Amino acid sequence: MRTAVLEGPHKFVIRDIPKPIPKADEVLIKVAACGVCHSEMPSWEGKFNNFPSRIGHEVSGFIEEVGSQVESLKVGQPVTVFTDKEGYSEYIAVKAPYVIPLGPDVLVPYALGEPVGCVVNGVLRAGIQMHDTVVLVGTGFMGQIMLQMVLRSAKQVIAVDTRDSALKMARQLGVEHCINPIGEDAVEIVKELTGGQGADCVIELTGNQQGLDLATKLTRIRGRLVIFGFHVGQRNIDMFTWNWRGLDVVNAHERDPMVYTSGIRIGMDLMQHGLISLNSLITHEYSLEEINEAFATASDRKDNFIKAVIRP
Ligand SMILES: [Zn+2]
Repeated sequence: MRTAVLEGPHKFVIRDIPKPIPKADEVLIKVAACGVCHSEMPSWEGKFNNFPSRIGHEVSGFIEEVGSQVESLKVGQPVTVFTDKEGYSEYIAVKAPYVIPLGPDVLVPYALGEPVGCVVNGVLRAGIQMHDTVVLVGTGFMGQIMLQMVLRSAKQVIAVDTRDSALKMARQLGVEHCINPIGEDAVEIVKELTGGQGADCVIELTGNQQGLDLATKLTRIRGRLVIFGFHVGQRNIDMFTWNWRGLDVVNAHERDPMVYTSGIRIGMDLMQHGLISLNSLITHEYSLEEINEAFATASDRKDNFIKAVIRP
């Protein structure tokens, strides 16, 4: 089978390797799609110097074979999986507990379990109340999924992003207040919308220093600052503001595989019920052979780019 091997910075090479044979407790999946994730950019740029490696963790597809001990899953079933590697391949073997069946109304290539599960768990950790004003700082791919969930759970939702195209999509979802901090005073606007208090819950999804700083400023006294962005390396913390305002700070990531899987199950159930959808968020599709182009495009994130998937 074909697989993409990351052999150096900015350099995937397509290799032919034996198709995996599923162990007794595993399932072999024919990959329909694997999402290109922002968290893979440091690997691709060579920051982790982990060459050669086979990455790709946002996989959906169809069951091709089941191991001898697997009883709950069937050949041909559409699924998404929790995995941390090897997704940019024609086939992938995954332990059965990490394989999540998809409902009949879900479009398989757009059912990327890992990011959806990640957002579900982030929203659960954010502890949103129905009377909350919630601000999302950063409304790219993950933010757009999160907005779909938060719009159903909070009184007032505000989107903040430096890309007008992302704010336009937020508006289409029904977000009334969209702020571009380049040219607009986000702190003042959020104050006006909250009776001078600031937001009850601010979720930071940028993974950068400016986003973290802005999210801090937008959170009211005793509010919740939820750090959901993927931060690599050190950050400066405005400890005075965190401390003075008595903020509850939540780092909203889950690394326990079973908690991850449970988040994916919830997310796929929401998708089956039409409450969330990635269909309009997948803006770019590539073949396995085009994976270098896919990563370059995902890295540039030019206007209108939201999410790329590889279709092996
Ligand atoms: Zn991911």
